[in-house]
Amino acid sequence: MIFKDLNLNEPILRAIEHEKYEVPTSIQEQAIPPILLKKDLLGCAQTGTGKTAAFAMPIIQLLSEEIAGKKSRPIRALVLTPTRELAMQIMESFAAYGRFTGLKYCVVFGGVAQKTQTDKLQAGVDVLIATPGRLLDLINQKYIDLSHIGYFVLDEADRMLDMGFGPDVRKVIKILPSKRQTLLFSATMPEEIAKLANSLLTDPVKVSV
Ligand code: AMP
Repeated sequence: MIFKDLNLNEPILRAIEHEKYEVPTSIQEQAIPPILLKKDLLGCAQTGTGKTAAFAMPIIQLLSEEIAGKKSRPIRALVLTPTRELAMQIMESFAAYGRFTGLKYCVVFGGVAQKTQTDKLQAGVDVLIATPGRLLDLINQKYIDLSHIGYFVLDEADRMLDMGFGPDVRKVIKILPSKRQTLLFSATMPEEIAKLANSLLTDPVKVSV
């Protein structure tokens, strides 16, 4: 299979060429078409499988079609991930795959001063990548409004729970609009994740690598 077979649009295909990716990975082949069809998705995949592109590319495509020509726009996509390193990598992936779209990205995580992050937020953001604690902090301070989120990715869900972020994740989920597309990725699928997936996803497509 080649990337063109996945229904990706021209700006993304150009970015893929720029990255010198030749063929999609297995998770990309399985996940991109249903995400583009606006399905919820439960993905069993580890880091290193190309899972970031599997969710970032279709979200960039759907979002860029939605907001074409709109100048003032609220945050439409949220990616929640457990660590600062993952958050930064995901941000770089969005920036790379979305380089020909004009979408705006921002990453927020704890352990650093919030000023750079809040400045960026105030300049306008389409896709927010966040770790749970700092996200809740900034929501409480009214720097972040999640009421227009249409795309929600819960990345590394098992690690999130292992690190004790369960309560924070549940707080974030409570704030999200119920009308949204949700993608949940986890390297393992213990009972707890299956339960979370059940409560979070509607008729999900299940993919595994
Ligand atoms: P991830 O699993 O999302 O952390 O991605 C692992 C690495 O694979 C990253 O460095 C990506 O740049 C790279 N990658 C993702 N998709 C492809 C692809 N289709 N071909 C080659 N490399 C890729």
